[in-house]
Amino acid sequence: MAKVIIVGAGGVGNVVAHKCAQASDVFTEIVLASRTLSKCEAIAADILAKQGRSIRVAKIDADDVAATTQFLLDEKPDLLLNIALPYQDLPLMDACLAAGVDYLDTANYEPPEEAKFEYKWQWAYREKFEQAGRMALLGSGFDPGVTNVFCAYAQKHYFDEIETIDILDANAGNHGYHFATNFNPEINIREITQNGRYWEEGQWKEIEAMSVHQTYDFPVVGQQEAYLLYHEELESLCQNIKGLKRIRFWMTFSEKYLTHLKVLENVGMTSIEPIDFNGQQIAPIEFLRAVLPDPASLGPRTKGKTCIGCDIVGMKDGKKKRIFIYNVCDHEECFAEVSSQAISYTTGVPAMIGGMMILSGKWRQDGVWNMEQLDPDPFMEQLNLRGLPWQVQELPLG
Ligand code: NDP
Repeated sequence: MAKVIIVGAGGVGNVVAHKCAQASDVFTEIVLASRTLSKCEAIAADILAKQGRSIRVAKIDADDVAATTQFLLDEKPDLLLNIALPYQDLPLMDACLAAGVDYLDTANYEPPEEAKFEYKWQWAYREKFEQAGRMALLGSGFDPGVTNVFCAYAQKHYFDEIETIDILDANAGNHGYHFATNFNPEINIREITQNGRYWEEGQWKEIEAMSVHQTYDFPVVGQQEAYLLYHEELESLCQNIKGLKRIRFWMTFSEKYLTHLKVLENVGMTSIEPIDFNGQQIAPIEFLRAVLPDPASLGPRTKGKTCIGCDIVGMKDGKKKRIFIYNVCDHEECFAEVSSQAISYTTGVPAMIGGMMILSGKWRQDGVWNMEQLDPDPFMEQLNLRGLPWQVQELPLG
């Protein structure tokens, strides 16, 4: 018996609401709250049509801490799932602390005026959450999220010591547009236009954006060109996986996608610096977001599969070994189930499972936590049951 408030009614919020509604034994009461009420209403109507279950909706501005705190005090939920944007992380953590509510999100805080996402702002809340007797679970999506849990699972069951981790994210789907991003365009473009970074022998190494790539042979989706990027789970995993020597993150992009992005970047359309346009201050990337297809609209058009996993090398019983632990997800199957493509699906399902881990008590502890710090077994079990089955493949040493 638990009441949950889901904040954010975009592509991922839609999946979280559907999946929480499916797990009716855990999430007995659901309120979907966001800035645009009509988006919440449309999702609620779809859940009613698909599952025959009613959820409530509400309009909130999560940047307004006082109003959100009052909303939480009135609603008295057990947990808030923050599925809005990274900019809302700190305001929502503040509101949860003030109202005495546990918190979960899928992406780390990023100040709107600076393309710099880091855990430092949220880790600074550790003591506050401990003292308030509340829990915050950070990064419960796929990457970060499931990838962190995969590493913790490999550490627990496959290795005495992990030496290197390569996280690989392949989207082999096709939506038929010349250019579109699979999740919030502003967040996506900010992530891939900044310099790449990886961690080796205790140090961060920086590379020019998209300058290092490899052809990786993925299970099911085959060979794909994967580019080295900085991704937020590197920051916590390099601290929490003991003995680690190197960790990198790779994401696949088609040549067509990269060409479009390069042109947009060259003409200044990806800049976050506001410019004066007819007397109005406007950040080019925000304007770009307005003209690109809404990620939520990609669902009905996208075909193909994603494959995301961790290629891990380490020692077991005195011998070196290498595994790839991964999930494959099909865009069309996701759409049939929850009216969404696989990118939002692979993020939304783990957010629901993270919520389930907190509410069932399996992961519940005061403080601010990253995913790999908690027991991976119950989470891995739920992935198999809730739509994201995983496999482990032994690989030859490279
Ligand atoms: P969308 O832009 O599609 O949706 C964001 C939603 O948040 C919208 O409904 C938006 O409202 C709402 N919102 C924005 N600001 C506020 C506010 N101040 N108050 C209330 N609601 C607000 O994004 P996605 O669904 O694609 O992504 C959601 C989150 O998931 C992001 O943080 C993203 O970084 C994260 N993510 C994580 C991944 C992972 O694997 N860990 C992968 C993909 C995404 P409105 O409709 O009015 O704009």
